Amino acid sequence: MAYETLKQMIAESRRIMVFSGMGMIRESGIAYFRDAPYAYQVEAEYGVSPEEFLSAAFYNSRPSLFYKFYKAEVLKNRNHARPNAAHYALVRLEQQKEREGGKVTVATRSISSLHKKAGSRNVIEACGNMFHNTCTNCGKEFSPDYIMESPGIPHCDECQGAIRPGILLAGEMLDNGIVTRIANETEAADMLLVIGTHLDAYMTKRFRQYYEGERLVLINDETYPTDKLANLIIHERVSDVLPQVID
Ligand SMILES: [Zn+2]
Repeated sequence: MAYETLKQMIAESRRIMVFSGMGMIRESGIAYFRDAPYAYQVEAEYGVSPEEFLSAAFYNSRPSLFYKFYKAEVLKNRNHARPNAAHYALVRLEQQKEREGGKVTVATRSISSLHKKAGSRNVIEACGNMFHNTCTNCGKEFSPDYIMESPGIPHCDECQGAIRPGILLAGEMLDNGIVTRIANETEAADMLLVIGTHLDAYMTKRFRQYYEGERLVLINDETYPTDKLANLIIHERVSDVLPQVID
């Protein structure tokens, strides 16, 4: 029943905005850094929590330890992270809506670029990604492999400037252009699809106010008190649902 309603909502929508959360990462088999068992392991091993590690304050004060963590715990996922069936379903949806003169936009805070890897073109990576790291001095871009191969703190091979990771760190502001783009796309959408997260998560809470329609759909396998704000709720794994409603 819910699947039929969802199918119908999708068919009736020209512009679809998708907020893709960390559940999508978990469904691709990657441990999310806030998840308890993993967070405890990290804390036991390094004496610092993953959240503390991935902050601007930590990066600025202890860059050497920051890079030890970033290489061993973040960049290690760079090659084996694979898109799941839901990522691919969204690619088909984007192509379908474009044929119909519509648009699908995906916004995510994930740094793993799985939507882009799957083939989605309109993707807003609000927190950047681990694949584009830049020299703070000359702006040259470096791959994760370059960073992995650099001992200690990576430096630019042209100007010796420090390379900073291409991800937004805790304590840093979202880029203004990105904020405007997410707000505008959400406002223009006929349907807001929130997947693998809940309505009070950072991005959904901040941007759902821009959505003015009545097709706010939530697909998440955990329940939250704010779920009732959605027009349609499906408490299942996203990768089980989307492939069944998108041809
Ligand atoms: Zn440089």
